[in-house]
Amino acid sequence: MTTATPPGTPGTSGTSGQQNATVLVVEDEPAIAAAIAQRLSAEGWRVEVARDGLAGVDAASRLSPDAIVLDVMLPGIDGLEVTRRIQADHPIPILMLTARDDETDMLVGLGVGADDYMTKPFSMRELVARVKALLRRVERAQQAAVTTPADPPMVMGDVTIDRAQRRVHRAGDEVHLTPTEFELLVMLASSPKTVQTRERLLAEVWDWADASGTRTVDSHIKALRRKLGPDLIRTVHGVGYAFEPPEA
Ligand code: CA
Repeated sequence: MTTATPPGTPGTSGTSGQQNATVLVVEDEPAIAAAIAQRLSAEGWRVEVARDGLAGVDAASRLSPDAIVLDVMLPGIDGLEVTRRIQADHPIPILMLTARDDETDMLVGLGVGADDYMTKPFSMRELVARVKALLRRVERAQQAAVTTPADPPMVMGDVTIDRAQRRVHRAGDEVHLTPTEFELLVMLASSPKTVQTRERLLAEVWDWADASGTRTVDSHIKALRRKLGPDLIRTVHGVGYAFEPPEA
């Protein structure tokens, strides 16, 4: 474990905006880890580096970082297992770094709860943009929780979406979603029976300006279907997705 910025306040998850965010970097290759840490520190964020999977899980639990940059290929437990363990404990937005063109890693990664992914090699500029997008999403979620505490839950058939508490139930059972899955579901459910293009979902939920990440949308839809049942989200082939409210 190394610290790229002087240790200061403890983990600020849940209270910080982008300015004093804490970002955890889990990467075993020293040169890459150092380059990422240096670049993210330059944004004014507090950056911690963990060099293997177990250290990453430990640091995530200890620091409650606002976002995590996580390499898939790690000694000990790999990035997929790290993601599973972190998301089971306390969901934190994760940007996964995968080997070039390894689609299996990418799809499995998103399936186990990563919020976004980049393939190596990547540009540092792009990395910063993606981390910023993750932090903006966290910030938006926190603001939503503060400014709309009295928002009544959305109830559609046996599905209940409580935006104030960020909890989802189906047929009485709580369904645990990652922050990104939750936002995607709210976005779709807010306009039932309306087709939303993958590009629009990408722009609204991920803050992506271009359409290069539509597979990310597909993977998250898959995760939502796995967790909520296959009937709620309809694929409109070649266009996008629509929320189909279940019968009351
Ligand atoms: Ca690695």
